[in-house]
Amino acid sequence: MTDLLTQSEYEALAASISLPSSAYIDGGFRPAKSGKTFTTANPATGAPLTEIAACGAEDVDFAVQKARDAFEDGRWSRLSPGARKEVLLKLAKLMERNAHELAVLESIDSGKPIFDVATIDLPETIHTLKWHAELIDKIYDQVAPSSDDHIALVVREAVGVVGLVLPWNFPLLMLAWKIAPALAAGNSIVLKPAAETTLTALRVAELATEAGLPAGVLNIVTGSGANVGEPLGRHPDVDMVSFTGSTATGRRFLTYSAESNLKEVVLELGGKNPCIVLDDAEDLDTVAAHVVQGAFWNMGENCSAASRLIVQKGIKDKLLDRVKAHAREWNMGEPLDPSVRVGALVSKSHYDKVASYLEIAKTATVHMGGTANGTHVEPTIVEVPSNDHQLAREEIFGPVLTVIEVASFEEAIRTANDTEYGLAASIFTANAKRAIRGARMLRAGTVTVNSFGEGDISTPFGGYKQSGFGGRDNSIHAHDQYTQLKTIWIDLNDSEPASID
Ligand code: NAP
Ligand code: MG
Repeated sequence: MTDLLTQSEYEALAASISLPSSAYIDGGFRPAKSGKTFTTANPATGAPLTEIAACGAEDVDFAVQKARDAFEDGRWSRLSPGARKEVLLKLAKLMERNAHELAVLESIDSGKPIFDVATIDLPETIHTLKWHAELIDKIYDQVAPSSDDHIALVVREAVGVVGLVLPWNFPLLMLAWKIAPALAAGNSIVLKPAAETTLTALRVAELATEAGLPAGVLNIVTGSGANVGEPLGRHPDVDMVSFTGSTATGRRFLTYSAESNLKEVVLELGGKNPCIVLDDAEDLDTVAAHVVQGAFWNMGENCSAASRLIVQKGIKDKLLDRVKAHAREWNMGEPLDPSVRVGALVSKSHYDKVASYLEIAKTATVHMGGTANGTHVEPTIVEVPSNDHQLAREEIFGPVLTVIEVASFEEAIRTANDTEYGLAASIFTANAKRAIRGARMLRAGTVTVNSFGEGDISTPFGGYKQSGFGGRDNSIHAHDQYTQLKTIWIDLNDSEPASID
């Protein structure tokens, strides 16, 4: 979907949409059992949008029970892969049909520019659903090379009840990255969206029911990390959790698992991703466009944001001039204005965190930006004396690009790898040997050469080091998260077992 409406059309739509407010459990909307709610606001204006069910452990228990019932009676888990595919394709179609509504919900809930949501997040979300739907009836299991007296089948089975815990930065896309492979494989889901961004997850669950997904298979439990995320992570009847969010919270899920039922845990975590530009890079103008996209897309609220620009001395000034020129083209403003590229940060508390880094930036060399207006932070470029600087080490998760000058290829790689994170990295050079050597030496789950990006749905996405744990999102490898291997050993002998001694 690339057609855009005008700002006034989007505003009219925002005013007319009825906002979901309850949790979605067992095929229908339900309030929290406690009756409690929390207010969700539009971060661009601060205006309250609606009250959302503030669920707790008792709602998690109820949703897990419903998910378990659905899984055990096979209403989804035992459908043929082709039948599951049809439902997921129908869901994708319904999302296409409701694309403008979903885009507006996402934008007013998160502060994201409608341009990004309509042209990137939503088309990618729909594509992800279709891709996993189309994959599921094309995966074969295995027959092991056992003797002529046996047949050994190695089959993949759905894990069972899976807990999915989402961040607020790409609410729809992260939802799709997880629900698409999990549902395709036949699991039942209890999903917790980030409290900041619940609206699109609830609407998608409703559309899934309309598409024919049976009740209890996709349950959305709204509320805070402490009241919903932790009980889900500790639940004895949840078979696995797939989490995307900060490294600090990800660590907790390993503890929850260790202290409960040893559920499988997959973690997609933070990053402080390097973008290396060597002095032989071609076409600095194109490089600069990639640098700006890498640093400022989604206001830098992006786990794979290229937030450290590691540039070789000889071209630093030329490159920075071009980066600034491109960044100036990124219009900051009202997220529902389709010409806006820099929207509001997701919440007041996150805004305050990012704004606090602007204070630290004042102690270094600010090449551009450095201001904030209460809801938006201006794209900011700061050069620091070394990679040891706080701005080069901490994930800011805002539109702040930290620049570090280096003398050589070797120093660039060393600096890039000098971080506890390892999600993504990029290298720009015209020298093919350095590009390939560099790509191999960089300790990150995704390395892009002469571009910024994350690959696409066909490539695995996840982190080295403290950026990830236990598995990958996207591609056929995502399927491994949501299935487990079973060996079925069939004895063709008529004779009794041979004695062991
Ligand atoms: P976060 O604070 O870790 O929250 C992520 C989710 O965990 C939210 O749903 C949150 O709930 C929940 N949560 C918070 N505390 C919890 C607890 N004690 N127990 C259980 N659940 C808890 O992360 P965020 O601020 O939303 O997202 C930003 C982070 O996500 C960044 O670090 C970013 O790099 C990372 N990220 C990684 C990827 C990737 O694929 N690697 C993609 C996107 C984002 P509430 O917020 O509702 O309380
Ligand atoms: Mg919100």
